[in-house]
Amino acid sequence: LRTRLLDRQAQRESAARTYARSIPVAPVAASGAQVTGADGRTYLDCLSGAGTLALGHNHPDVVAALQQVLASGAPLHALDMITPQKDAFSEELLKRLPGTLNQQAKLHFCSPAGTDAVEAALKLARTATGRQGVFAFTGAYHGMTLGASSVSGPGRMRRGPAAFGPAEAQPVTRLPYPYGYRCPFGVGAEEAGRLSARLMESYITDPSSGVGKPAAVILEVVQGEGGVVPGPDSWLRELRRITAEHGILLVIDEVQTGIGRTGTFWACERAGVTPDILVTSKAVGGGLPLALIAYRPDLDTWQPGDHTGTFRGNTLAMAAGEVTLRTIAEQQLAEHAAKLGERIRAGLRELSQQYPQFADVRGRGLMIGAELVDPDAEADELGSRPGDPVFARALQVACLERGLILELGGRGDTVLRLLPPLVLTDEQADSVLGRIAEAAAEAAK
Ligand code: PMP
Repeated sequence: LRTRLLDRQAQRESAARTYARSIPVAPVAASGAQVTGADGRTYLDCLSGAGTLALGHNHPDVVAALQQVLASGAPLHALDMITPQKDAFSEELLKRLPGTLNQQAKLHFCSPAGTDAVEAALKLARTATGRQGVFAFTGAYHGMTLGASSVSGPGRMRRGPAAFGPAEAQPVTRLPYPYGYRCPFGVGAEEAGRLSARLMESYITDPSSGVGKPAAVILEVVQGEGGVVPGPDSWLRELRRITAEHGILLVIDEVQTGIGRTGTFWACERAGVTPDILVTSKAVGGGLPLALIAYRPDLDTWQPGDHTGTFRGNTLAMAAGEVTLRTIAEQQLAEHAAKLGERIRAGLRELSQQYPQFADVRGRGLMIGAELVDPDAEADELGSRPGDPVFARALQVACLERGLILELGGRGDTVLRLLPPLVLTDEQADSVLGRIAEAAAEAAK
């Protein structure tokens, strides 16, 4: 069955399919952190729908909530009309929003993908400020639609928006992300954060820069697709100070980092920073498609119809999302993610003693990365070595052979990425580490 499914789909689907190539598993059943393939093999899932399944696969409370909606005869699709499920979801979300957005924010439901919520954030920022420009960061990933991809990369997107013709009127100024291991300024992450913020300030205040004041700055607190790169708290606070001072909107994309993933409910909370516009998707829908922005109420300047979309009110997604938000808070799964993440990172650091390919182990909570390098290549002045895509891919394949699903990311696909469900147990975490150790031994042969 597995071979038939994989072969047939390979013929039918587009050349752009990706996971189907890199992870040739045909999943037929799943529970918690475990997936069963059509070949009868079980896998530990450290990708969990690219971080979507915070409560793991088929969490009983999520399944029960979905069954209850189905049994009730509620409309499954209601455009963006109000339903009791949407009301309950909104109540739950508003309670969990960070800082001054808590209970105060306006919500705008989007077409159910992170990329559309990013589009909404950019459009709202332009509408509310009357300005056009956006500051974005190197290595960022905000989605695949033209607007979102224009604030992504370079260095992550294989082909930038230019490959599809110019994206109309999206003046984007790129700032260096404070990436400690591959530091844009040849200094550590903290200092790079300071320099990056100072560069931003000079673009805004120095007329000779030719840049001027943008509508917004968009960022990830921990870059995900860019290779699990955490931005220092001091950097985030400095950006908040500068944006507030100049009336520039701070847009934080928590599509991947949100809902407990990084050890706090929202990643921005660790630095005590609240964005003007918060972007969320993935885990917020409890595994079903849902995306939205939450923003300062005084920014609510747009008109009915300014950002619509057919699928903005999926009843099942609201129900699954509501249970997920509540369960994560009640069961303190963000705290669990913080602890378990440290345990896994400690294990990976231990492994790096034996395998110097694991050059930089990092991340926050259960968003974990390991930069994989060629230890024999020459190091730069900071001690960083070039990535090793061949080792990285061999490691991913060897993990899969040992029943462990994980992903590669980063500028050259040389960062091992783990995004397990937040319900991963200590025993499962140890099993993940054991399998990576065995896989490393094989890949290093
Ligand atoms: N922003 C971030 C930070 C993401 O990680 C992603 C998806 N990986 C997106 C936006 C785009 O979300 P989607 O794939 O649902 O469009």
